[in-house]
Amino acid sequence: MKVSKSPHKSAERRRFIINGAVQGVGFRPFVYKLAHDCSLAGWVNNTPQGVVIEVEGAGEQLALFRLRITEEKPPNAVIDHVREAAIAALGETEFKIVKSAAGENVSASILPDLALCTGCLAEMNDPNDRRYRYPFINCTHCGPRYTIIENLPYDRPVTTMKTFDMCDACRAEYENPLDRRFHAQPVACPDCGPQIALWNAEGNILAEKEDALQKTAAAVRAGKIVALKGLGGFHLITDAQNDKAVQLLRERRHRPAKPFAVMYSSLEEVEKDCAVGKQEAALLHSAQSPIVLLERKAGGNISAHVAPDNPNLGVMLPYTPLHVLLLQELKFPVIATSGNRADEPICIDEHEALERLRGIADVFLVHNRPIARRADDSIVRVMAGGKTVLRRARGYAPMPVIMRQKTEKPVLATGGHLKNTVALMVHDKLMLGPHVGNLETPLSLDAHNQVIDDLCRLYRVAPEIIARDKHPDYASTRTAGERGGKVVPVQHHYAHALACMVDNDIDAPCLAVTWDGTGYGDDGTIWGGEFLKITDTGYDRAFSFLPFPLAGGEQAVRDPRRAALGALYALGDTDMDLSFSPAEKALLLQSLEKKVNCPLTSSVGRLFDAVSALLGLCDKNTFEGEAAMALEFAAEKDPCDQSYPYAIKGGVIDWRPILMESIKNPANAAARFHNTLSDIIIDIARQTGEKNLLLTGGCFQNKLLLESSVEKLKRAGFAPFWHHKLPPNDGGIAAGQILAALRNG
Ligand code: ZN
Ligand code: ZN
Ligand code: FE
Repeated sequence: MKVSKSPHKSAERRRFIINGAVQGVGFRPFVYKLAHDCSLAGWVNNTPQGVVIEVEGAGEQLALFRLRITEEKPPNAVIDHVREAAIAALGETEFKIVKSAAGENVSASILPDLALCTGCLAEMNDPNDRRYRYPFINCTHCGPRYTIIENLPYDRPVTTMKTFDMCDACRAEYENPLDRRFHAQPVACPDCGPQIALWNAEGNILAEKEDALQKTAAAVRAGKIVALKGLGGFHLITDAQNDKAVQLLRERRHRPAKPFAVMYSSLEEVEKDCAVGKQEAALLHSAQSPIVLLERKAGGNISAHVAPDNPNLGVMLPYTPLHVLLLQELKFPVIATSGNRADEPICIDEHEALERLRGIADVFLVHNRPIARRADDSIVRVMAGGKTVLRRARGYAPMPVIMRQKTEKPVLATGGHLKNTVALMVHDKLMLGPHVGNLETPLSLDAHNQVIDDLCRLYRVAPEIIARDKHPDYASTRTAGERGGKVVPVQHHYAHALACMVDNDIDAPCLAVTWDGTGYGDDGTIWGGEFLKITDTGYDRAFSFLPFPLAGGEQAVRDPRRAALGALYALGDTDMDLSFSPAEKALLLQSLEKKVNCPLTSSVGRLFDAVSALLGLCDKNTFEGEAAMALEFAAEKDPCDQSYPYAIKGGVIDWRPILMESIKNPANAAARFHNTLSDIIIDIARQTGEKNLLLTGGCFQNKLLLESSVEKLKRAGFAPFWHHKLPPNDGGIAAGQILAALRNG
């Protein structure tokens, strides 16, 4: 492109190096247009160091250009920093996009997948557009990335789009720097791109293209369960308003109570069933398009079986063109839950899905664009005025956190056992991989290893330091040992605390409230109710809850009554009826007496279980956190500002008065229990005098507990920190493990 004016007499030249998410998001065409707009000559190039721009022209135009880069950047570009240098003018008169030399285009980071943009949505709905109703429309502002990349540099031949030859019309767009699809790697159209088909459970084709979409919609209307191949894996889809269909899905999925996520056709439809705040609406419409936990309105149209006894609902909007087309047809909300069996990773291949989802799905809506790697839907909740990611996957992972620390040696962290994620740090970038899930099955362990192999391969590193949980028997402990690097065991709750520090970019000293269900403690007992003083190099267990025995060990995790019995035993009064059979209770008491298979725990998560069971709210955890959630919901239903007594002596928090009082005086017990916990936090904050308080661990997914603690801490002049981009639960600890390894030297 020729710059209209002849080179300015007093032309100046600047070089900019821009880092962040600036590659694969339409940044170069944006710079090209902007340079033209500002009458500047020069060039732009993608390099391993970031986007490099050299521009030449009048001083005031250069200043304007610099300003507009930040202000008008493409919607999904994230600029971390801009380095600027004045260099000698060359008298250039043209602005060019420099063709990246092969191997030189290694994107600084792998970009996550992005939800369908408004431009593509409009085209898809336009009968005159050549991509009218095309389920794979995309551009540089939207579409798949992470889930189609096979290698870096990010380029079409190393994506799962490599087998589709672009037609002339698509290629023209792909090669035109002024087009929205310039270097949009997955660019495609009905003539040259992927297509959908509907299969029966045997894998025979029932319909193709538009007909497949119509027949899928008809199947959902008829109460069938559809396995739909989406962006990062399969969804199981069924009519969320149809009791029978939802119950059928529960039976087939062996999932009695865990809430299902619901996909609505539009925000207006969501608002009929749920209260949607400004931030929540923005999240639903964001390019990340996560599942957002919302408060349900009374009435509402969805089946009671979608989220039984739950005042909240996980909601998302359609984020791929295929989901949009289906929801436009249906106009009613559907369950869209991960296409997997319990504790197995989500299916990504259609032939694999036929096997693994056999007996669950009636029909399969598939397509021929392969999914290179899994990405579950992310889950976020707005709490204490901001966003907290509870499950970090599609849209967020593996976007790096830029650290102030740098590492010469690549560091890997293998995470925990539940809600497993792994992390990799290269130079100053900490990448937290996507949600893998509980490492309970061989398939999920495979998925865990795949994410590790994948991240290392894409970033071309072999980790030299490998951080893992201190637990001797976790599967993630074994994978760390198998990798051949220096292994650094990290205490579970210390990792939670450090993850929270990474999330908030703060330094020691601080006091970390690390409350969760289970974590291997330094003394061999199960921790989960600690206050850790974080120093520059380590931590100190300053306060913790009085340990109590878990009757029957591991089984107590699924049976909150066993936590309750253990707590009552610690109280010295086990008369209360917990609906055990007399024989069962006798056996459990005997094991408590003999201290056989009754590990001690200081876990606040288990204390939640115990109180929930004692109050008769929940006597079975059919999913992680069920009893604790029941207690949270009961507290919200019956609010009260009173608390129970407790005692703190010698660094030990004695919760027995709480239990005694709640048995004697169970009115508003759930709310009082929550209040007491936040009282304890303030009390200990005052005792230690530490100003910065970290609230981390699975217990801080509890909105009531988090918000009341934050509020009380702020009122008392403390600075509370909690989670935003990294999960407070075990899905975040890999990030903390990395920081622990760095601190270790
Ligand atoms: Zn688009
Ligand atoms: Zn085409
Ligand atoms: Fe934990």
